[in-house]
Amino acid sequence: MKNTAVIGAGMAGITAARTLLKAGHRVTIFEKSHGAGGRMASRNTPYGSFDHGTQYFTVRNPDFLKALSEVPGTQAVCRAWSANAVRVLDPLGRVIEAALPTREPHFVASPGMNALVRHWALPLEEASRVHYQTQVQFLKRHAKGWELVCADGAKHGGFDNVVLAIPHVQADYLLRQSGAPAAGFKGLKALAEVQVAPCWTLMLAYPLVNQSGLSHLGPQWNAARSVHHRIAWLSRESSKPGRASLERWTVQASAEWSQEHLEDDEERVQAKLLKAFAELTGIRAEPGFAQVHRWRYAKTLQPLGQNHLWDASLKLGVCGDWLLGHRVEDAFVSGLGLSLAMLD
Ligand SMILES: Cc1cc2nc3c(=O)[nH]c(=O)nc-3n(C[C@H](O)[C@H](O)[C@H](O)COP(=O)(O)OP(=O)(O)OC[C@H]3O[C@@H](n4cnc5c(N)ncnc54)[C@H](O)[C@@H]3O)c2cc1C
Repeated sequence: MKNTAVIGAGMAGITAARTLLKAGHRVTIFEKSHGAGGRMASRNTPYGSFDHGTQYFTVRNPDFLKALSEVPGTQAVCRAWSANAVRVLDPLGRVIEAALPTREPHFVASPGMNALVRHWALPLEEASRVHYQTQVQFLKRHAKGWELVCADGAKHGGFDNVVLAIPHVQADYLLRQSGAPAAGFKGLKALAEVQVAPCWTLMLAYPLVNQSGLSHLGPQWNAARSVHHRIAWLSRESSKPGRASLERWTVQASAEWSQEHLEDDEERVQAKLLKAFAELTGIRAEPGFAQVHRWRYAKTLQPLGQNHLWDASLKLGVCGDWLLGHRVEDAFVSGLGLSLAMLD
């Protein structure tokens, strides 16, 4: 039985881990945060949850469709969302009718975006194969295989294979920090070509709206892209299936603005995004709750252009959305591709 470590419990890592487990590997997952999902993230607040990372996912790839249809319980977790109502706004909040997006079905996980990956991680969790709150810092190679050295000082050894299912900057750092032989990973140099933009996200809740007996505030639409220089996307969280009805909005800044304001303090970012939100939606009421989140590695601008990287001599592999693109499906396809290559 091959002993395989997977670093990262996002869509790519969990997809790779499930495939390897099914093929008979003994799989252990290491994830630095407290649960699975990665950028398919949901934040719980006293006012309801926010999908502050992935907004929705598409299903274009046949293998992704197959997994969504065939993994038991998955259909109950994934729900179609009326994103066909997505609008495109000019900087004054006017709908640009000519720029309506395609009528492709859009899906969300329920009750929060992290529910899909969490559902797929369940068999691994039930077999006690996942270490949460465990950040891997170095990889060392011994006669008995790879050893993972973690931020809390713990060491986990005896792995035949290691899969890195993490953003490219973090993969690059981890491999280089580890020194030889990991730093000799075939393909490491190519990671310098990849470009990923950050994203500031604003979360807003308006409890007074519902207390006053109104169902919602402002526009009739539930989601919009915008060409405003500060804001690229807005969605009414409460319009998504399986969510609490309290009026909540998630607002995502444009890649350019997020990059320009990456190191600004949260208070300043919140104030600027709130002002732009008012310009676009006409909602000028004071929110009962406002919070921002900074994603340093949000959206791939320049992918690697390969499904995955697998160094068969070192038995080290890398997967993630950034190898192929910027969507959940890319992460799935990359995780699946790497795990199948490892079984060849
Ligand atoms: C703001 C935002 C909006 C988005 N909107 C959409 C959208 O609408 N539609 C869409 O399809 N996609 C969207 N995406 C992209 C989508 O979220 C990603 O494509 C997908 O979730 C990537 O999955 P992944 O497994 O490759 O990486 P991740 O989800 O980033 O998973 C990597 C995991 O590795 C962990 N990790 C990192 N380093 C270590 C370490 N050293 N040790 C242990 N664990 C580690 C991280 O904590 C994380 O859980 C969006 C992303 C963001 C940020």
